[in-house]
Amino acid sequence: MIERLCVIGVGLIGGSLARALREAKFVKEITGASRNPQHLQKALELGVIDRYDTDLSGAVEGADMVFVSVPLGAMGTVFKSIKDTLGVDTVVTDAGSAKASVVEAVKAATGVIPDWFVPGHPIAGTEQSGVEASFPDLYKGRRVILTPTEETSAAAILKVRAMWEAVGAVVNEMGVEHHDEVLAATSHLPHMLAFALVESLARMSEQREIFEYAAGGFRDFTRIASSDPVMWRDICVANRDALVAMLKTFRGDLDDLAAAIEDRNESKILKIFQDAKSARDAFAE
Ligand code: NAP
Repeated sequence: MIERLCVIGVGLIGGSLARALREAKFVKEITGASRNPQHLQKALELGVIDRYDTDLSGAVEGADMVFVSVPLGAMGTVFKSIKDTLGVDTVVTDAGSAKASVVEAVKAATGVIPDWFVPGHPIAGTEQSGVEASFPDLYKGRRVILTPTEETSAAAILKVRAMWEAVGAVVNEMGVEHHDEVLAATSHLPHMLAFALVESLARMSEQREIFEYAAGGFRDFTRIASSDPVMWRDICVANRDALVAMLKTFRGDLDDLAAAIEDRNESKILKIFQDAKSARDAFAE
């Protein structure tokens, strides 16, 4: 049970965790914190938080759990602001979509990799942003990856694990670098493809006609291109190396497909599509 939770960044991810913990009766009091008081006032009116503070250092005072769910580019500023007012037993965790950059940001802010910090990433979300888009069931049955470092205290990991399990999530642990490579492949690359495809089509002169005749497949494939551009810019910067490696591999595979089409290599085209269908069908099951 969490006595006082401080959520820094009460948007889709932070707001959903606050709502879910409240619904699970796993938290007594929730303080929200971010830059814009109007966003926090909205969260208060929606019943997501009990009170708020735009001064982050004050907001974490007295909290036994702090959840940082701001864009990756803001992590460093946040950790610098809160490091001196955290209680001795306060556990801090985050939601950042790439992990090495967050661990670096914490280290840069505090001078060490602190034992109270448990890096985390809920593998759940939508293309919407802000507290209005948050909902309590977001994490039910979804995975949360924790990437503790050698320095992370076992008690802190247990506390963060218990928090996520209370909202119905399935918790896994893996190394920081491994997480960033896996997510570059499964999440970051698909977002790059969706953004690039829609942007490319939108630049074509006949775009009106293209979008007019776009059907379900286009809608399914490009839904994630409506995701927040700032968040995704930050993810690209934070996970640059793993993402560039994935993009290069994928570009090679796309070139192979293009060559097979150009050569009218029907058996090769069929093999690529059959392999893809088998993999997708197995995943969907
Ligand atoms: P969001 O809905 O845009 O919420 C972000 C929140 O951060 C806003 O409430 C914003 O409030 C606050 N914020 C931004 N800059 C800040 C700063 N410098 N100091 C303090 N607060 C700041 O974004 P989100 O989708 O919840 O994403 C939050 C984090 O979760 C990101 O790190 C993202 O990588 C990660 N994540 C997202 C998803 C997803 O699908 N969306 C999934 C997994 C993980 P103010 O404007 O009031 O400051």
